[in-house]
Amino acid sequence: MKKTLRLILGDQLNLQHSWFKKKDNNYTYVLMETMEEASYVSHHIQKVIAFFFSMRNFNDTLNEKGFQTIYLKLDNSSNLQSFSDNITHLVESQNFERFEYQLPDEYRLDIVLNELTNQLSIECAASDTEHFFTSRSELKDFFEKKKSKQWLMESFYRAMRKKHQILIENDDKPLGGKWNYDASNRKKLPKDLTVISPKLYAKDVSEIHSLILKMEIKTIGNVDEKSFIWPTNREESTDLLEFFIVNCLPYFGDFQDAMAKNLWSIYHSRLSFALNCKMLSPKEVIDEILSYWEHNRSEIDISQVEGFIRQILGWREYMRGIYWAKMPEYEKVNQLSHDNKLPEFYWTGKTKMNCLQDTIQQSLDYAYAHHIQRLMVTGNFALLAGINPAEVDQWYLGIYIDAIQWVELPNTRGMSQYADGGLIATKPYVSSANYINKMSNYCQKCHYNSSEKIGDKACPFNSLYWNFIDRHIDLWKKNQRMGIIVANWEKQDPDQKTAVLKQAAKYLANLDKL
Ligand code: FAD
Ligand code: SF4
Repeated sequence: MKKTLRLILGDQLNLQHSWFKKKDNNYTYVLMETMEEASYVSHHIQKVIAFFFSMRNFNDTLNEKGFQTIYLKLDNSSNLQSFSDNITHLVESQNFERFEYQLPDEYRLDIVLNELTNQLSIECAASDTEHFFTSRSELKDFFEKKKSKQWLMESFYRAMRKKHQILIENDDKPLGGKWNYDASNRKKLPKDLTVISPKLYAKDVSEIHSLILKMEIKTIGNVDEKSFIWPTNREESTDLLEFFIVNCLPYFGDFQDAMAKNLWSIYHSRLSFALNCKMLSPKEVIDEILSYWEHNRSEIDISQVEGFIRQILGWREYMRGIYWAKMPEYEKVNQLSHDNKLPEFYWTGKTKMNCLQDTIQQSLDYAYAHHIQRLMVTGNFALLAGINPAEVDQWYLGIYIDAIQWVELPNTRGMSQYADGGLIATKPYVSSANYINKMSNYCQKCHYNSSEKIGDKACPFNSLYWNFIDRHIDLWKKNQRMGIIVANWEKQDPDQKTAVLKQAAKYLANLDKL
């Protein structure tokens, strides 16, 4: 048996992996905190802490279970600060005869590790992460086989439901008769509903925080170092899953699209970090939900359960498949040729627009915003304002606790910024103030007036919305789903249209002041 070095990346904290089924002293596992990973984008401080803290916990668990590890802290004198340099050095200095790694989820690291294995003069091998329901190429193969032009999430999701027999009856029929309960997932929060407070973990992370400051890593956002809120080990991850199932699942589907001032996660699970680091597997999340539902069917409607499973089995696997099918070109797509600069308030939260102020401030405070805030507030505004998708990507990739490129990029470039020409979204996710007013209480206390299009107090979303439609009208005319909107714009009074476009031009010239 060869003396083998096994690399564990920061998002591969999966104790259920077959690597850990039995102990063998021929294997040494290495985890490393590197400047390279901590600074390829300006990450939120909570994100850097969460990764390093979880890695250290994972390392401790492996040691407790008797596995041999090497852990390189950020300021370790032998840390060469990149995966390749550290591995090369370890292989040479400790005479390893074989190197193994689990396939990374990011394209960037795939290249790095491929190059490294070509350079190493010892035997190298890669294995699967054993985390996802699908392989890297499964989505591509699925749509190419069907010869589909449009890669619709819904058709992939249905195939996954059938393949894995989830919410299925009579072989291939959807349980309950419907594949999708999306239409009942759009309720606003009733005024008399008291939303449960999110379950938070209160850990002291001051040691890691000080280390990050000492090493002068450039970060964004805020942190309470004496009371860190995110799950950073397996126990907390499973505990958060249980909290979600008992307290939030019964309302999840109904209020999935709702937003409210100062309610930063409503009934969302906040499991994305634990899932993306692989402390939880998507299969066990779905199994736990179905098992709980089995015993509580009379209390939880199928629409809540399907609404959640669609996110995990549908959207999450779909986004990963798109990423691997379309990289590396996907990183550059900008079909609308948007090139405006991201307004400064995305980094500070200082804007008079209440919806953006609340969403950005909570992102800075918690490294989190839920899906509709990301899509219909910050994403919507960036798209309407014609911001360069590369800048939008940098922002999303940095600010969220769960942001790893394989899932961030297709969500941002594709779903949110329509930069892929409609591969993911059949029409752009844009709205005027109408939608935000319908789904939240933001507009009630805003400096701007949600029903005005023109004037000093007119909500910027309104004129920018019509400006966006007008700016790309030739493209929308080719899109059946945009027909009603195009017709609506074209039939408006010409003087009114001119005034709306003038208002939008004024706002576009002063984005930083809104
Ligand atoms: P819940 O609402 O409780 O959903 C449960 C789980 O479903 C999530 O934890 C997540 O794993 C999965 N999920 C839900 N929607 C999606 C989706 N669209 N794509 C992939 N998985 C999904 N998610 C990330 O994990 N990392 C990102 O970097 C990221 N960037 C995004 C950028 C934009 C512009 C948008 C619109 C969405 C982004 N998402 C990203 C998807 C989604 O917003 C987050 O997964 C979700 O908000 C995480 O919070 P939660 O765990 O409370 O999710
Ligand atoms: Fe946002 Fe406009 Fe509503 Fe203000 S009025 S909260 S800017 S949508």
